[in-house]
Amino acid sequence: MLDSKCIFCKIIKKEIPAKIIKENEHVMVIEDIHPKAPVHYLVLPKKHVININYLQESDFNLVTEMVKIVQEITKNIQDSTGKQVDFNLISNNGEGAGQSVFHMHWHFISGKNLYLDGFKL
Ligand code: AMP
Ligand code: ZN
Repeated sequence: MLDSKCIFCKIIKKEIPAKIIKENEHVMVIEDIHPKAPVHYLVLPKKHVININYLQESDFNLVTEMVKIVQEITKNIQDSTGKQVDFNLISNNGEGAGQSVFHMHWHFISGKNLYLDGFKL
């Protein structure tokens, strides 16, 4: 289930420290160690899956749990007008797409408009 050499598995097992924002049986949300925005969290399944390409049918409940915990988090973060925050969820899958930690995760980014620097989807 967990990989002894994987840094995120070590965080999940609490063998190395991280700022834990929220966790339950299936998912952990931590603060990114090098935040790229005022809010930059990582949403991790508590199972060592390399990335979306490696997810099996039996893992799909983890994806639901990841979405649910994102909703729980946004319920508790408001912008200056009291509205639930806007956010980006980014998932790098594979080295060629910029993945550097090979335990599936979503970057939860808020408080910064990533599209102001010219990048567009
Ligand atoms: P990616 O490049 O999409 O694989 O993202 C990996 C992310 O993990 C990067 O944003 C790193 O800053 C972050 N990261 C690496 N090591 C740690 C750690 N020990 N605690 C928290 N975040 C980490
Ligand atoms: Zn792992």
